[in-house]
Amino acid sequence: MAALATPMKCSRCSDAAIIRLHYCDRQLCAKHFILMFDKRLRSTVREFSMVEKGDRIAIALSGGKDSTVLLRCMHELSKDLPTELVAITIDEGIAGYRADTLQAAKKEAKRLKVEHRVVSFKKELGKSLDSIIKTQDPEPGTRTLPCSWCGVFRRGLLNSAAREAGADKLALGHNLDDMAQTVLMNVLRNEPSRTGRLLDAAKGAKGGSFVRRIRPLMRTPEKEVAIYAMARGMEIPRKECPYARTAFRQLVRAQLNETEELHPGTKFKVLSSVLAVPQQDAGRAGVRCVSCGTAGNSRTCKFCELSGKIKSR
Ligand code: SF4
Repeated sequence: MAALATPMKCSRCSDAAIIRLHYCDRQLCAKHFILMFDKRLRSTVREFSMVEKGDRIAIALSGGKDSTVLLRCMHELSKDLPTELVAITIDEGIAGYRADTLQAAKKEAKRLKVEHRVVSFKKELGKSLDSIIKTQDPEPGTRTLPCSWCGVFRRGLLNSAAREAGADKLALGHNLDDMAQTVLMNVLRNEPSRTGRLLDAAKGAKGGSFVRRIRPLMRTPEKEVAIYAMARGMEIPRKECPYARTAFRQLVRAQLNETEELHPGTKFKVLSSVLAVPQQDAGRAGVRCVSCGTAGNSRTCKFCELSGKIKSR
């Protein structure tokens, strides 16, 4: 008979480990994992001066694991470093996906007694994302992927909602995987100015017309966010956006995960390679959009360009 595998023991105590961290050769029980997770988030916040006492912080709350964990952690942080939170959910109008996560977001904000605002594509742009995708130009070679529309509109609407809410900062649930994927995607697409903007934002540069965006989970691997949510008994719908499969990001994600398997710590190294570059303020805007006045790099910002396209259809 085959011997039963010995359960992993926590590297800090004698309890059973719930996770093995290959990149630092440690395994941790639920208690020590939660402690490590919270400590890392708080040290990231401190390192990049993301939060100041008295800040009003808008949390981009999609209702998925990253933003729900972020809200929970920022809520706990606000007890030690007093801040005011407002959660903002963007309802893109994606059938079979958004309704469940929107419900979860509402429930969590209510439970934590955090003000919650919902902004919808339908109300602000006149069309849901589903309907934008159906009416996009069908000509071969000109088809724009859903995430390209969605990303631009979400970013713009989140910013205006955060501004309307009087927020000093806009906290995003981007984790280490998201950050490393974005850096690699920018390299593969030869878009160094985007990496410059990401670097500026991570290091605390003001984002032109944008409310300063902060990413307290940027040093936390995605898998650890999921395990943290489970370890803390958080109920989060396991829904994936049906358009996610079409994204270039998925390809980069798979390659990065494969490399991480073989070379633990790769994702940290990708992020560190960018953070090590001296801040350039590469994203500093020089032009204002003629339609909305947003500072950027062209006379018509992407938001106005794309919303103009959907209105003309
Ligand atoms: Fe929008 Fe793409 Fe994210 Fe879906 S996967 S919510 S379409 S950005």
